[in-house]
Amino acid sequence: MQEVKKPRKPLIYYYVIVLLVLLLFNFLAMPWIAQRQIREVDYGTFMDMAENREIGEVEVQQEDNQIIFTDKEGTVYKTGMMPDADLTQRLYDSGAKFSGEIIQQADPLLSFLLTWVLPIVIFVAVGQLLYRRMVKNAGGPNAMSFGMGKSNAKIYVKSSGGIRFSDVAGEDEAKENLSEIVDYLHNPDKYKKIGASMPKGILLVGPPGTGKTMLAKAVAGEANVPFFSMSGSEFVEMFVGMGASKVRDLFRQAKEKAPCIVFIDEIDAIGQKRDGRAGGNDEREQTLNQLLTEMDGFEENTGVIILAATNRPESLDPALTRPGRFDRRVPVELPDLKGREEILKVHAKKIHLEEGVDFSQIARMASGASGAELANIVNEAALRAVRAGREYVTQADLEESIEVVIAGYQKKNAILTDQEKKIVAYHEIGHALVAARQKNSAPVQKITIVPRTSGALGYTMQVEEGNHYLMSQEELENKIATLTGGRAAEELVFHSASTGASNDIEQATKLARAMITRYGMSKDFDMVALETVNNQYLGGDASLACSAETQTEIDRQVMELVKKQHRKAEQILAADREKLDQLAAYLYEKETITGEEFMNILNSRSSIHRDAPEKYVCRGETSDV
Ligand code: ADP
Repeated sequence: MQEVKKPRKPLIYYYVIVLLVLLLFNFLAMPWIAQRQIREVDYGTFMDMAENREIGEVEVQQEDNQIIFTDKEGTVYKTGMMPDADLTQRLYDSGAKFSGEIIQQADPLLSFLLTWVLPIVIFVAVGQLLYRRMVKNAGGPNAMSFGMGKSNAKIYVKSSGGIRFSDVAGEDEAKENLSEIVDYLHNPDKYKKIGASMPKGILLVGPPGTGKTMLAKAVAGEANVPFFSMSGSEFVEMFVGMGASKVRDLFRQAKEKAPCIVFIDEIDAIGQKRDGRAGGNDEREQTLNQLLTEMDGFEENTGVIILAATNRPESLDPALTRPGRFDRRVPVELPDLKGREEILKVHAKKIHLEEGVDFSQIARMASGASGAELANIVNEAALRAVRAGREYVTQADLEESIEVVIAGYQKKNAILTDQEKKIVAYHEIGHALVAARQKNSAPVQKITIVPRTSGALGYTMQVEEGNHYLMSQEELENKIATLTGGRAAEELVFHSASTGASNDIEQATKLARAMITRYGMSKDFDMVALETVNNQYLGGDASLACSAETQTEIDRQVMELVKKQHRKAEQILAADREKLDQLAAYLYEKETITGEEFMNILNSRSSIHRDAPEKYVCRGETSDV
């Protein structure tokens, strides 16, 4: 229910317009107006008027070769000059007054209005306009008020559209944690009697799209209390102090409406660490200070609970997270297998499904997906069903929409040459075969060489059966070997490399680097952390924390590790060349094969292979050939 606002035009825009209008006015309009008031007459008329003593003032403009004069009423006239030796004497005799600035005096009132009053009026009008816009943006004439019906600053919803805990699937720990708050809001006396006080603030932390906002709304829904919701960025205004007064007002309103819940989304927008640097963001710091003061200001057990959400908890100011303010932290993590299945089921309630859809299979395929992504997958599947003219969603729709999320839509008109298609087929079978021939690999679910809009020309999907929380060194090494399998197959069969392995190379290097710098899986470095992860919930980029020499050594070891696994993949494929050819030919013809078909061919005849592979997640092993 976020309203869409027109982008604000910067101030300078208005001032430039005003300046242009004034310049145009002075350069074009003023001379024109002045000209318009002068009547041009012939020299004879001038002479007659002089004769009849009708001239009031006169100005002889030698350089422009003209005479400007007025009659007794003040009307201005103009005439050209003639060679006339007695002109001055004649004018003198006629009683005319010699003047130097007739035009300027033409209408003193008008010129005063035009040159002084009009610009001021324009400036004042623009100022008013700007002020109104600002007030409007800040939320109505009473700029700092939060309330029903006023513009953007507030969203005040009584019991927040009925979202309940049952609508939030998975996240059992978070729900358990928050249901205590609900209980408190229902029976505060129970807590007061024993002397327990509720945390003032609760911080929901987790990756984007895991249901933090939903959980906050569900708390309000369950407790049936008013719910104030604001995003951290809405506090930060153009002028220093506006944010702080918004905070003050929010808390004043909240106290009036207690018991209630105040939810601040993306709190990192105002709650970032104050680094004390000169020229920092004054507005943000003032807003944060005000928030801290307000949180200290209200008594415990007033019935105002503050929930806040962030996906960058490490960037928050320690003053904000200390006990007494946001003293409870509720992690809202990516859902596990069971959670994913439940989320899919919750969202599937809204669509028509064919009988017997296997949600656990879909959940397994969508490993690593957040709640929001799962909701999107279900919707994509429904859209696909509509496109196909069906009235219900099938298992295939759901599976295809996962692939759309991983690798984009199928490219209908990408035309690969025969040779390219062959290379892609060998590449993908290379991955799958290396995975299948190693211990501890997730089973292959699907192999396809249909190009996708993400640029992938094919991919091999491996799906694990259950949850997998730990990975051993061997599993990680096998994964690297699997990633190098595509290129190894190309080299083995075509004796050349293609650009298709770029994504594999990136992933393999990332894994190898993490093994050495973060997981302590290198003998030389033992258990020394060489890298720190910065944004745990937002991509998890890492920064090195070691000397330049160590970095060189890390690079060397990463290279060695990847090379070793690449050699291993080559050996596996060389030893199984016959199967490689057979499978690649099959894939070339069919374009998409299931894991079952793959295993059937692999196990046909008496080809010896090791134990049935165990499973691990290898989501979206796309190879953008
Ligand atoms: P966040 O605040 O963590 O970024 P939201 O709460 O805004 O995420 O979730 C976005 C959308 O994702 C929700 O509207 C909902 O459709 C879906 N979603 C996320 N998590 C869940 C969940 N646990 N159960 C059901 N739907 C979920």
